[in-house]
Amino acid sequence: MQRVRDKAGECIESFGENLKPPHSSTTLAPVVTGSADPTAPDAAGGIVRVPPGPYFKDGPAQGRLPGLEDVNFGGKIEIAVFPRTPAPPHLSTSIWLYDGMAASLLALHPDFPADFSAPSPPRYEIVDAGSAGRGMVASVDLATGDTIARERPLALFPVAIAMDMNDARRVYEAVVASMHIENQRVLRALKNWKGADRAPFYLKGVVDTNAIGVGALPGNKGLYGGLARDICRVNHSCSPNARHSFDLRTNSFVLRAVRPIRKGEEVYISYLHNPATLRKDRQEELLRRYGFVCSCKYCSLTGQESFDSDSNRAIIYIRWDDRELDEALFAQWLAEGAPKTRPTAFEELALKLNGFRMAELAWTTMLREGCISDNLWEPVLARLVKAHSVLKDEKKVRYYATKAAELAVAFEAGSEREWEAVAKNPTKTDWWGKRNRALAT
Ligand SMILES: [Zn+2]
Repeated sequence: MQRVRDKAGECIESFGENLKPPHSSTTLAPVVTGSADPTAPDAAGGIVRVPPGPYFKDGPAQGRLPGLEDVNFGGKIEIAVFPRTPAPPHLSTSIWLYDGMAASLLALHPDFPADFSAPSPPRYEIVDAGSAGRGMVASVDLATGDTIARERPLALFPVAIAMDMNDARRVYEAVVASMHIENQRVLRALKNWKGADRAPFYLKGVVDTNAIGVGALPGNKGLYGGLARDICRVNHSCSPNARHSFDLRTNSFVLRAVRPIRKGEEVYISYLHNPATLRKDRQEELLRRYGFVCSCKYCSLTGQESFDSDSNRAIIYIRWDDRELDEALFAQWLAEGAPKTRPTAFEELALKLNGFRMAELAWTTMLREGCISDNLWEPVLARLVKAHSVLKDEKKVRYYATKAAELAVAFEAGSEREWEAVAKNPTKTDWWGKRNRALAT
């Protein structure tokens, strides 16, 4: 949790604590997969490469808060409205910027905000979701990776602010005053669960309750969050079927399906920093930050089923820490023998004991819990693809590579074409039937 002291020494709650976890692509360069068509086997050797990793992208947007000394709180505050030319309300954003940030932003993206396209007709409706207030429901059947919604933020705010609360209130009010009258109406209709006793003033309560992570903006290492018309209405589940991110160049939030969603089904994201935690910890975090008791499918389990769910979440959590050990054991298995056309039963068993079983366990557990870990899905699927390639199991290589291609879209990993190439040509992968070699990466 990030806390900032104001001039009077009073601790100001930053809205980083309340921010729905950022899944920002702000600082991520597109992944270049080579100029040739990666879906075709390489002309020289007829080899398709299994994406070697690294399987997750590091950056300030991955949930780590920068040190306060790195954050630019100072200088003049500018309330900038983008685009600079008149735009309809749904394309207009007011942004709280510090000195130099507007110039840095335009230096990086001279066309900021670039045009984007949202699905048309819309793929969702905002409906009354009972005790959770409003919610989002799919209006068509959606596949893994499909874009559900894409929209401009109404406003972007720094996560942490360091100023007297009366000054802060004036800046918040100035941001709202700069907004299109229609956007002001939308913002004022958003819920403030924090109430007068938990938020220093009404607008901060609204922002704290509803903001979605954006990551850092150019010219400042401090994190930002934004309010959006519809994506802010998406409710929480500990087994979310969707995931959100922010695209800086187009200044838009993107919401994608992480598993198939049927028409009429409610769309959920996770508000938790990490959903792969025990039920009591998830409930405590949600109550503290958002004031509700989660009643999702997994939080509603009782007795043995609840115990099993907690055990599953622990497996997902722990597997991430153990991945280096897994890699070492897998490499050892690969180096042990000469290439074989067909593994013996003993070799199959040895493979399972050497990391293969762990990857299968992590994958099936994530599916069972409806909890696909951001950092775990790609190394786990890569392991399963490599192992089944070594064992020449074409069907399984195709299956896991297809799953990886779908999730690469949902999680914006940038590797979907490489995984598609593997799924199309399992027998042409660089791991096919290979033993007695060092792990390539
Ligand atoms: Zn829950």
